[in-house]
Amino acid sequence: MKLQRITILGATGSIGQNTLDVIAQHPERFQVFALTANTNVADMLTLCQRHQPSYAVMVDTRAAEQLRQQLPGGCRTEVLVGAQALEQVCAAHEVDQIMAAIVGAAGLAPTLAAVRAGKRVLLANKEALVMSGQLFIDELVRSQAELLPVDSEHNAIFQCLTPELQQQVGTMQLHAHGIQHILLTGSGGPFLNLPLDELSAQTPSAACAHPNWTMGQKISVDSATMLNKGLEYIEARWLFNCQPEQLQVLIHPQSVIHSMVQYRDGSVLAQMGQPDMRTPIAHSMLYPERGVSGVNALDFARISELTFVQPDVQRFPCLSLAQQACWQGQAATTALNATNEEAVAAFLNGQIGFTQIAQLCDQVLQQMDLPNLECIQAVVAFDQEVRRVSQTLMRAMA
Ligand code: NAD
Ligand code: MG
Repeated sequence: MKLQRITILGATGSIGQNTLDVIAQHPERFQVFALTANTNVADMLTLCQRHQPSYAVMVDTRAAEQLRQQLPGGCRTEVLVGAQALEQVCAAHEVDQIMAAIVGAAGLAPTLAAVRAGKRVLLANKEALVMSGQLFIDELVRSQAELLPVDSEHNAIFQCLTPELQQQVGTMQLHAHGIQHILLTGSGGPFLNLPLDELSAQTPSAACAHPNWTMGQKISVDSATMLNKGLEYIEARWLFNCQPEQLQVLIHPQSVIHSMVQYRDGSVLAQMGQPDMRTPIAHSMLYPERGVSGVNALDFARISELTFVQPDVQRFPCLSLAQQACWQGQAATTALNATNEEAVAAFLNGQIGFTQIAQLCDQVLQQMDLPNLECIQAVVAFDQEVRRVSQTLMRAMA
């Protein structure tokens, strides 16, 4: 593999930092071309000094100005500003790989720019795929870009497929290759065993205290509602071109198995490992080779048990909402994603309670007309409309 020049969208986040950690272990293989962040100047400054990217993009104008002022004289990094610049550092001809690790809908445009430019795209930003589905896959097929899943479950599933299917992300025919089911596993999050009547009083810090994974705030709350598994269900549908009967969700509290593929002959292939995102990150960056990630091997002698249960729909209404929306059409999943982003932000700000996240998602899906979304512009306009409706409904709730 020749030297890979990489752009990291969302470099200051949890996935971004883990990606830089993997890069630091392979200085001869990777060179940082661009790092991007929204507003976090302090962390970006440190990253620029350490990794010397050609470009640092700050979406926020004031943050970009501050970064320019604070970068030391000899630093070779050029600071760019605004959302448009995110697309520029993805499509630049010098770039080989893009780690798409912005959280939420803000990641759609730059991730698509990377796809359209035919790059190798390492997809952590599941919301981008959830909100655009078939349109995203169409762009992928057209550009012949390479899409590799970083989300640990999807990366696990990918690893359990044949090399032939691995070349057909988005268009593969599971049935024709002897695959019966994909088993998407999830830990169940911090509230798996909480008495149901205590759910509504849960605080942001309780929701963000995931038992197995350390992650950004938004995905941590999504894990507590299990909408994260719902978004991953939709993500899996698109990545692996699934039919409804080919996709199942299973709770596995220990997070040792990261997902499984069941073949027609009775074989089940699973990918296992420590719950550390550096494993799927390193896998996607080095694919098809294997290299160190900094993660220790599993010690099976110290694993006392692996257990599995069906998800409880009463406890996790968001999971059922997502599974329904998945087969309802693009507008349903776009609406669910946008509503959830607004609801989680409001929950983290103390404006709504934990169980109101699911209530709001349900209300929006019931009330709104779901149009046909035939192009990305229509997706983006509908996403904005859903956010306005969500805000109005939340004011009525508070
Ligand atoms: P995070 O909150 O830690 O980091 C988010 C990053 O996105 C930051 O660098 C931030 O500056 C940037 N960002 C936020 N809003 C932005 C905007 N409007 N415009 C441009 N940049 C913006 O999030 P994370 O936990 O690293 O998750 C990133 C993505 O990866 C999410 O889509 C998440 O679902 C997915 N993911 C994360 C994990 C994990 O372990 N953290 C695992 C699987 C998938
Ligand atoms: Mg995941």
